[in-house]
Amino acid sequence: MSRKTAATIDLSALAHNFVDVAKRNPSSRHLAVIKADAYGHGAVQVAQALHGKADGLAVAFVDEAQQLRDAGIDTFIVLLEGVFSKEELAWAAQHNTAVVFHTEEQFEWLMALPKPHPAIWLKVDTGMHRLGFLPNEIPSVIERFQSLFDDNTVLFSHMACADEMHSPHAANQLQLLQKMNADLTLPVSVANSAGIISWPDAQGAWNRIGIAMYGGDCGNPDFTPLSVMSLRAPVIGLRTIPSGDSVGYGANWTAQRPTRIATVAIGYADGYPRHAPNGTPAWLNDHRIELVGRVSMDMVTFDVTDVESISIGDQVELWGKHQSITEVAETIGTIDYELMTRLSVRVPRLYR
Ligand SMILES: *Cc1c(COP(=O)(O)O)cnc(C)c1O
Repeated sequence: MSRKTAATIDLSALAHNFVDVAKRNPSSRHLAVIKADAYGHGAVQVAQALHGKADGLAVAFVDEAQQLRDAGIDTFIVLLEGVFSKEELAWAAQHNTAVVFHTEEQFEWLMALPKPHPAIWLKVDTGMHRLGFLPNEIPSVIERFQSLFDDNTVLFSHMACADEMHSPHAANQLQLLQKMNADLTLPVSVANSAGIISWPDAQGAWNRIGIAMYGGDCGNPDFTPLSVMSLRAPVIGLRTIPSGDSVGYGANWTAQRPTRIATVAIGYADGYPRHAPNGTPAWLNDHRIELVGRVSMDMVTFDVTDVESISIGDQVELWGKHQSITEVAETIGTIDYELMTRLSVRVPRLYR
């Protein structure tokens, strides 16, 4: 017997979401972004589920790509954060892996590397201001390292506000990119999920689908993905406390009426955030229920007074098909990306 806490991953819903986004622009090719263990969903399983559907995969760094190659996945990969050494460039060249270049040093490493070379995805900083060459630096980079560029070179940028449908910042970034590429005419990759869904001008040779395929929020009501991850945990304790009694560490919640409390087997060690406030919603036996009292390491407590029939062992859905992960994230003061990626290794992933 084992604790029934688990995250169920619906791989057919994930593939459906991916195709739903990709078909909005059939003339682009689409990368499935599966960094951070596919946002907590299992990178190998997600890569396998998208076989024949995704034109490529994107991860943050070499170790994540290596894990895919070790599992026998041979789909084209892009390293979004680039490489940290010359050796990693050589690895990428041998493993059908393109590299985002954002420093001169990375180009120096490439100069010193005998062929074959990995494809260069040249990162330009159009306003995100994290990584990349500034637009006015690009001509000199291209001139200096001319011999390294070829037909596989892609001009790459990232949007800061793609999830705000009318963001002037997003419009500015796209304009800047178009302007600087007018003469270069390189194939472009700039759109993430929200970019694809809300910004037609962001469509490029390669688009990058992340959160949309995992059923997350893209800030556009026209896009309603299927839920992919359902996080469930069993009720392991039930009691009724009198009005005036409190629940949990710090006694930070006090019952205003006689209250039935369900103790549920999940806590911050599983990735359910400790700062989830009183009132954070969940779903049990066709009812919306609310968190009361502090999140412990292995347990949480919910007010279930209004749920007519409950037994020990009933499964609470912390987020999933009935309880939107986006609403939970908003209540907690974070985003669905963070809830997904921080689900800990202690929670088994079940695939269906
Ligand atoms: C993570 C990431 C993406 C995916 O973004 P979503 O909002 O999840 O679609 C795209 N591009 C880059 C550079 C990223 O780091």
